[in-house]
Amino acid sequence: MSGSGDMVSRRGLLRTAGGVAVAGALAKLTVACARAESGAGASPDSPAPVKLPRLMAPTERESELMPAPLAPDKRVGYAIVGLGRLSLEEILPAFGQCKYSRPTALVSGDAQKAAQVAGQYGIDPKSVYSYETFDRLKDNKAVDIVYIVLPNSMHREYTIRAAQAGKHVLCEKPMANTSAECVEMIDACKKANRKLMVAYRLQYEPHHREMIRLCRAKEIGPIKTIMAVNAQHQGDPNQWRLKKALAGGGALPDIGIYCLNAARYLTGEEPIEVLGSAYSTPDDPRFREVDETVDFFLRFPSGARAVCSTSYSCHQSKRFRVMGPEGWAEMDPAFPYHGLRMRVSRKMKDSPIEDASERKLEEKNHFALEMDHFSQCVLRDRPAHTPGEEGLQDMRLIEAIYTSAREGRPVKLAPVEGLDVFRGPPPEPGS
Ligand code: NAD
Repeated sequence: MSGSGDMVSRRGLLRTAGGVAVAGALAKLTVACARAESGAGASPDSPAPVKLPRLMAPTERESELMPAPLAPDKRVGYAIVGLGRLSLEEILPAFGQCKYSRPTALVSGDAQKAAQVAGQYGIDPKSVYSYETFDRLKDNKAVDIVYIVLPNSMHREYTIRAAQAGKHVLCEKPMANTSAECVEMIDACKKANRKLMVAYRLQYEPHHREMIRLCRAKEIGPIKTIMAVNAQHQGDPNQWRLKKALAGGGALPDIGIYCLNAARYLTGEEPIEVLGSAYSTPDDPRFREVDETVDFFLRFPSGARAVCSTSYSCHQSKRFRVMGPEGWAEMDPAFPYHGLRMRVSRKMKDSPIEDASERKLEEKNHFALEMDHFSQCVLRDRPAHTPGEEGLQDMRLIEAIYTSAREGRPVKLAPVEGLDVFRGPPPEPGS
């Protein structure tokens, strides 16, 4: 299938000075899309699920709705660019759980590996490209979306080339190495009338969506403090993640971005001040070019604050806690692909008992959810929930955190009024 461009110029909206106009326009857009969705039911791009009688007592959790996938030839076709760990271990297998998406092309510098992978996933050998023949994707009608899964410094070039080839773009995080590159990418997609989404998989994941709902419903009162950590112990000093030219930075843009993005989507707000502190162990060959550890602080207009830490030299620790006057809600782990756990603690009403309980949600494949969301955006010509502007805002904040760390001072940012200003309508529940 093939799709057309965004129905609303988000960049035009976002460039409007003063967030009120922006927020108002996006709120209307959100309502319009929600209305379109609430008339849901079977449609050519959303078939009805098969229904079977219920077996369990009402005291048991209902099983999730049957999947209602589109037939393979009706699904949105993806070209996967870069056959590294993420593509081979997560993204390609995730297509097995997609309802609207299928892999139809591969781009790799290693022809033998690409041929092997194409065979495994039933991809036409004629739809395997190298970086040199990438632009021929333009003639491949089976490709609607190009998913960029390359080292960060290459996101800009391949996003622009994909847009020029007439394809929509799903780009891995961090969106690029600099905010200037992000702007170029947004502009190129706009010019080509193609959609651009940044692959923030957790914004599509059920635990994180429940966390967002809980925070916005003020179930623990207004958010006062968020504490977030994303750390892992990085090995091989020769990997691209430790080369500044390829990675842009160290722990902060690679994994600290999860803390930053979570603080933004949990509050829905944009920081008005950031403070950063970076450290690299002297003489450690891994951290000659990039930061090992970055601690950072974000202050939001409502008074909420986020205290975050990210490191490439601590054993895996990936979690956050949101604290309010009436309770706390946490996820530990919060950021891995599997096994996410959510707990909420509050005092029971009219009782001295403190209730700390787990909110159990069915595990879903993050990449399948993210890709199916974007496929639906293409099928229905809707804006993505995490468009290029969302990636650009993270990159601007990362730059401000680095400036603060370098200059040893807080960096103030222009207030952005409204909630979720850089995001499109939320993903449809259960999609
Ligand atoms: P990787 O090193 O495993 O794969 C990178 C691929 O790019 C390899 O196939 C490699 O051959 C290719 N490549 C092409 N030119 C290259 C060059 N000059 N140097 C190095 N590799 C080159 O990396 P990955 O873990 O798959 O990460 C790819 C992207 O995905 C990154 O932007 C990363 O931040 C992102 N990522 C996102 C998540 C997530 O959860 N969303 C998780 C991991 C990685």
